[in-house]
Amino acid sequence: MADQAKESAAADPGLPVSCECGHVQFRTPSSTPDGMAHCHCTNCQKQSASAFGTSLYFPTDKVFPLPAALEQKLAVFTHPTDSGNTMHCYFCPRCGVRMLHACILPDGLRRDKVSFKAGTVDAGCLDWRAMKPKHIFTRSAVVELLPEWECYETYPPAAVPSGATAGGEEGTKEDGVKKGEEPV
Ligand SMILES: [Zn+2]
Ligand SMILES: [Zn+2]
Repeated sequence: MADQAKESAAADPGLPVSCECGHVQFRTPSSTPDGMAHCHCTNCQKQSASAFGTSLYFPTDKVFPLPAALEQKLAVFTHPTDSGNTMHCYFCPRCGVRMLHACILPDGLRRDKVSFKAGTVDAGCLDWRAMKPKHIFTRSAVVELLPEWECYETYPPAAVPSGATAGGEEGTKEDGVKKGEEPV
């Protein structure tokens, strides 16, 4: 019954996402993320409490505004980034699991991509290998990186989460990442 309803509502129901305790549950805007990256920056090491963070990217305009019921369940931690943006980090207030990041540019616009923390996608629902994730910010990696992996010291040349919508970010990227390791 539920499956029928889903199929009639949308051809692509998205990927099921949930936090560790189950308080926060929702679906990604589609089952086909725009990309995936393992980010080894020091911020991602903190936010993931682990060696690196893994992000799935979706178009911001497919994610925001968040449904009211979802927004009410999420808590937000914000911090400035060294390139002058503000990172909004959404997490479950009960179990603390980080769910998604949205970057707000100085002019108040959101960056064109939102990153979802890939480990929150329910087990078996995402083919991680097929996503061929890049490794980014490998300059601060704490794990061995294999030569066959696609690795970048900071952002890849065609930066995954660039501020293409508002401009400026492209030009300042090199400076911005000098110490500004924006979690992505
Ligand atoms: Zn939770
Ligand atoms: Zn990062």
